Amino acid sequence: MKIIVPVKRVIDFNVKARVKADGSGVELQNVKMSMNPFDEIAVEEAIRLKEAGGVDEIIIVSIGPNQAQETIRTALAMGGDRGILVETGETVEPISVAKIIKAIVEEEKPELVILGKQAIDDDCNQTGQMLAALLNWPQGTFASEVKVADGSVNVTREIDGGLETVKLTLPAVVTTDLRLNEPRYASLPNIMKAKRKEIITKSTDDYGVDITPRLTQLKVEEPAKRTAGVKVENVAELLEKLKGEGVLS
Ligand code: AMP
Repeated sequence: MKIIVPVKRVIDFNVKARVKADGSGVELQNVKMSMNPFDEIAVEEAIRLKEAGGVDEIIIVSIGPNQAQETIRTALAMGGDRGILVETGETVEPISVAKIIKAIVEEEKPELVILGKQAIDDDCNQTGQMLAALLNWPQGTFASEVKVADGSVNVTREIDGGLETVKLTLPAVVTTDLRLNEPRYASLPNIMKAKRKEIITKSTDDYGVDITPRLTQLKVEEPAKRTAGVKVENVAELLEKLKGEGVLS
């Protein structure tokens, strides 16, 4: 079977995001960009399923600027087989990403699409669910365990206060949670090998998807600065202060 893994190029999770002076968004100039961490987990899971047998090909898809090729290349160095870059300089909202992936699914006919549960830049947590709805496929979101059996996939999901396991008939959409696996680092030989793997470049028009945004971002603000703390000498003084501030009565 084939697996498609969509990967998004986002601001690196180690970088402290800085808001632009005019509040119109987050500064991305000269900022380190990387693969969305949940998508690394999705790539790793697809590779593990391939290593376990029964998976012929892993196709990595990214929708974004030309530099998203690097993100695809990273996924290919981890173990993906080939890539599709849908190049655009525009912001693409989850509904349009889902429509583009749907069109690619119709061409490639995979049995599984594994996405991250959310992109850490927009925190939307929408694309996987919208894709499943557009395809009319079952979905297993927030996966902490994925087991493919004959014609179906069991997905264990992290829910409030416990775990839930659902059985989905293939083809299906799965989105990854943090504890699903620990993604591997690409080895140097695999990085070299990945340079020869195929990445084709497409445009959003090739898939007939209108990516005009439906939302307008009104304002982005830094969180309020934390005020400095006060040191107390002992517990009695701490209790006094808490009482004084009305935290304790
Ligand atoms: P979101 O709904 O934006 O939080 O994104 C959820 C998941 O959808 C991500 O973890 C990716 O797997 C996928 N995704 C979102 N945007 C893109 C994109 N531009 N290119 C490829 N995959 C994407």
